[in-house]
Formats: sequence, C-alpha cells, structure tokens
Amino acid sequence: MAPTPPVVVLSGPSGTGKSTLLKRLFAEHPDSFGFSVSHTTRAPRAGETDGVEYHFTTPEKFQELVNSNAFIEHATFAGRSYGTSLAAVRDVTSKGRACILDIEMEGVKQVKKKPELNAKFVFVKPPSVEELEKRLRGRGTESEEAVQKRLGQALKELEFAETPGIHDKIIVNGDLDRAYKELDEYIMAQLK
Ligand code: ADP
Ligand code: 5GP
Repeated sequence: MAPTPPVVVLSGPSGTGKSTLLKRLFAEHPDSFGFSVSHTTRAPRAGETDGVEYHFTTPEKFQELVNSNAFIEHATFAGRSYGTSLAAVRDVTSKGRACILDIEMEGVKQVKKKPELNAKFVFVKPPSVEELEKRLRGRGTESEEAVQKRLGQALKELEFAETPGIHDKIIVNGDLDRAYKELDEYIMAQLK
C-alpha cells in the first residue's frame, strides 16, 4: 500500500505572507500538494470563492459541524470561527497529494495532539512587527478594528512560536523569493 501523504501545517501571524507563499507553492507544484479548505464564519473578501479559499458558512452550520465531530481542529480567531474538517484533509490525501493546512496557534496545539496525522509544523515569521502592520494594512482587506485584533493576536502567535519544539521549521518572510525558496526546499524534502 502507498504511504499516506504528509500533512504540513503552516502558521504565523495574519499578514505575514502565508497565503502568498502557498499560492506560489501550489502554482509551481500543482500535482504534489493540495490545500486543506477550512470552514469559516468570516465573510469572503473580494476575490475569494466559496470552496476555494474557504467553505464560507454560518455560525449555526459551523456549530452543527462541531457537534458532529467533523473537525480535526477548530478555533475562534478575531471573533470568527475557523475549522479544518477531516473531509478537507482526506480530499487532498486521497489524491496522493501532501496536504497543507494554514491555521492559527490554537489549531496548531490541537493538531499536535493528533500524532496519527504525522504532521510537520512550519512557522512563517514577519521580519518585524512594524513590517507586519504595514502588510496587514497594505492588503486593504480589514477594517481598523480587525487590524487591531489581528495585531494583538500576532503578538501571541510570535510568543507561542518561541516555545521550544513547537515548530519543525521557522521561516522569516523578509525577502519573498528567499522565504519561498526556504519553504519550497523544506516542503519538497518532506515528500521524499
Ligand atoms: P497571510 O496569508 O499570512 O495573512 P498574505 O499572504 O495575505 O498574508 O500577505 C499579506 C500582505 O503582505 C499581502 O498584501 C502580500 O502581498 C504582502 N506580502 C507577502 N509577503 C511579502 C514579502 N515578503 N514582502 C512584502 N510584502 C509581502
Ligand atoms: P484569514 O481570516 O486571514 O483568512 O485567517 C485568519 C487566521 O485564521 C489565520 O491565522 C489562518 O491561519 C487561520 N485559519 C484559517 N483556517 C483555519 C482553520 O481551519 N483552523 C484554525 N485554527 N485557524 C485557521
């Protein structure tokens, strides 16, 4: 039987560049990886499509999924619910592709408690908190209130990432090309 494809968990403060790096990874290796499409109760941003970036859902439906144990992990972030369903991961691994999760720290803690997923953990760090704030505002997707919530959460994520043994790889996303190369090399090595 073919071995189960690996699961790679990417985390890091909102605005640090996770989606940018992942878009490039998926474009360069379309047959090697798949994205775990999470459920969320936040509203879609311009350009986001239901079923692609997220399964956009209502708080009621999200709660039903929680009650039926559909999620391998779920958490509240900036006042909205987010969760990874087992189905989302299986959708990818059943095609023989490595599954990439983009989740926040409470989700990381929960996935850590599931050794059967055999996950690797990558943390994407901004070069500084000032640069993070610039990127978050520059993206132009959040209200001022949401930017403040995300920055507050960013400090917790950065502190959590200091815990020894949490992450298998930490990448500073200063220069995008350099960060991408590091991510690409690390993730491709997991496929061997
Ligand atoms: P995340 O998915 O971590 O929330 P995004 O990928 O949406 O972050 O990136 C946030 C913003 O920062 C986007 O506008 C993106 O174009 C920009 N960005 C990402 N990486 C870099 C980088 N290395 N240098 C400068 N800007 C970047
Ligand atoms: P955004 O709203 O910017 O897309 O995501 C906000 C935060 O939620 C990011 O840190 C992202 O990694 C995290 N996130 C996205 N999907 C999930 C999920 O399924 N579970 C958890 N725990 N966090 C998620």
